[in-house]
Amino acid sequence: MKKVKEYLNTSVLTKIIIALAVLLTLVALFLVISNRAPISRDVADAENTTCKTVVVVSAGDTLSGILSKQGLSHSQINEIVALLKKDAGINGLRADRDKIEFVRASDESPVNKIVVIPSPWRQVELTCDDNAKWNCNTIDIERDTRAVYKSGVILDGDSFYLAGMRAGIPAGILADVYDLLAFEMDFERDVRAGQKFSVLYEENFSSGAHVDNGHVLAVSFDALRGNVKMYRFKKKDGGVGYYDENGNGAIKSLKRTPINNAKVTSSFQTRRKHPVLGFTRAHKGVDFRAPTGTPIPSAGAGRVVKRGYNSGHGNFVRIRHNGTFETLYAHMSRFAKGVNVGTVVRQGQIIGYAGSTGLSTGPHLHYEVIKNGKHVNPLTVKLPPIDNLDATAKARFLEYRRALDAGIEYLSEHPQMFIVL
Ligand SMILES: [Zn+2]
Repeated sequence: MKKVKEYLNTSVLTKIIIALAVLLTLVALFLVISNRAPISRDVADAENTTCKTVVVVSAGDTLSGILSKQGLSHSQINEIVALLKKDAGINGLRADRDKIEFVRASDESPVNKIVVIPSPWRQVELTCDDNAKWNCNTIDIERDTRAVYKSGVILDGDSFYLAGMRAGIPAGILADVYDLLAFEMDFERDVRAGQKFSVLYEENFSSGAHVDNGHVLAVSFDALRGNVKMYRFKKKDGGVGYYDENGNGAIKSLKRTPINNAKVTSSFQTRRKHPVLGFTRAHKGVDFRAPTGTPIPSAGAGRVVKRGYNSGHGNFVRIRHNGTFETLYAHMSRFAKGVNVGTVVRQGQIIGYAGSTGLSTGPHLHYEVIKNGKHVNPLTVKLPPIDNLDATAKARFLEYRRALDAGIEYLSEHPQMFIVL
């Protein structure tokens, strides 16, 4: 059976009709499979005569400590630890996330099989052979990915976050949507009652059960300054990016609002009465409300060119992003560890923590964008995209986007449906 994705990747109209037929078939098939699955599982359990112990890793646990508690000898532990490192790339355990299963032939027998589960999508099986030698085998668990669609509307006095939760968008997906929209929108000024938004995202299933969520595939938001749309698109070279509806890179070199969901408390002004000094002077940045200790991410990739204190800015960091842009973050309570003059930072890397040092009336982030040595308004300055598509890729993108839009339109009318990817 052909997958919907293949249709989405080639050309358009008839294929969408076929895709929808495939979709309905898959929905029907899914219902059949999900009804049947529990029966075969019961049979398997009845036949299972081995004894199984499951250990959930908690803080402070070590792999050798856990193995020792299960009665494994020193030399066995060394062998297993080395094998996990060499064959499965597992060096340590993560508390509250990793699980280890120990299998014995009976209560009294020694462990003959160990299953390490480092993610819902991977299992590492260690088995002890007749010569008491351990072998390692990694199994990737098959996942079914579905694209699901959620939409909502901003109500009076609402925030995008509340509206998103009400629309049933999972918190992790909502955070990703924020990250994307923050390149284009200012949540303070662009969000009003009555605005509609939607998101198409991946849900991952294993044997018919929902396990986790994947990527945001498309976002749409009716902002005051026009409809903002972004699509995730995979290029021929395997690289993945987000693009606007015309195929221009949506991920900008800088973020307008470094802290997600932070309210603007003072905007960029060439003249304003200073709240502490009392006289009129320019406000060369934007202030975002942020409690003391709120992590401050770098608005873009770059290099720290200044890190210090002055009476106005308090603790501040200045980052050079390229030949054109610099950003500055002021009133920090403290700097992030390892962030010094000369440090190269990623976009989104935490550089410090909000505070109220310097000339400040309360904890907030004062954020400046400096373009060719001149202060500009971070919320309105035109920002260059990180990644644009060449002509061929753009043509492929537009075809994909039209097909995806048709899928979205269908899902918007049938929100209980999904697209199998
Ligand atoms: Zn300020």
